Amino acid sequence: MERYLVRSDEKISLKDIDPGEIGKYKGEKDDGLERLGELNQELEQLQELLYAQHKHRVLIVLQGMDTSGKDGVIRHVFEGVNPQGVRVASFKVPTAEELDHDYLWRIHKQTPRKGEIVIFNRSHYEDVLVVRVHELVPEKVWKKRYDQIKEFERQLVEEGTIILKFFLHIDLEEQKERLQARLDDPTKRWKFNPGDLKERARWDEYIEAYEDAINKTSTDEAPWYIVPSNKKWYRNLVIANILVDALNRLDMEYPQPAEDLTGIVID
Ligand code: ADP
Repeated sequence: MERYLVRSDEKISLKDIDPGEIGKYKGEKDDGLERLGELNQELEQLQELLYAQHKHRVLIVLQGMDTSGKDGVIRHVFEGVNPQGVRVASFKVPTAEELDHDYLWRIHKQTPRKGEIVIFNRSHYEDVLVVRVHELVPEKVWKKRYDQIKEFERQLVEEGTIILKFFLHIDLEEQKERLQARLDDPTKRWKFNPGDLKERARWDEYIEAYEDAINKTSTDEAPWYIVPSNKKWYRNLVIANILVDALNRLDMEYPQPAEDLTGIVID
């Protein structure tokens, strides 16, 4: 899975990365789904340990074009985990109050506490993506944000947060199919937002903004992963794998009881 990692010294171009890739699972979606089931269980146990140990904080950033599957990842990768220790923070168009503050204000408030996993459904990266594409602030303002974001994330990591950032990579054709499905399927129609078509028309500008954001802010401590996401099951598998590996690397242990419990008898 390390091949999806963007190293800090690397400059990626999204057109060189196949969004339809399915790794070693060629034609074997069932194997992929079986593996995802195993990873779900492993994640459940690791999350329990994270919560019990109350030491580390975990922040997962999900970004991607409309329909790329941010909601699907939240539903499928975290299936079965204890909701007490996992929280989703979704970042929409900022409110008047949020706009009155600096752009990281609303973000910092949602960062994880000890023992918690927080999933950002969109994030501070919107402030160098939609904000850049729509010129919501002048260029000289958003250009400074890459360094500010890196510094903000570095500070969180130094204070004990693990940060994993995922770009869900789909292509224009796949987005067309998914938008069409939203129109055709009455159970999905509520998700169709005509505004998404306006954003779709600016696909190339978004790609450029994403490439810049990823290349400028993928660091050793807060790396970006580019996840092939045309195939939903593969996307989930890649993210679950990376997350389980990262949690395993923490070498967590259940806390020791405060006092010696040997010999205690419950009547
Ligand atoms: P989603 O697409 O995430 O399911 P919405 O359809 O409500 O949810 O879209 C949220 C919108 O908010 C997106 O168009 C996104 O670009 C926008 N947004 C998020 N953060 C910002 C920001 N900082 N400035 C402007 N727009 C933002």
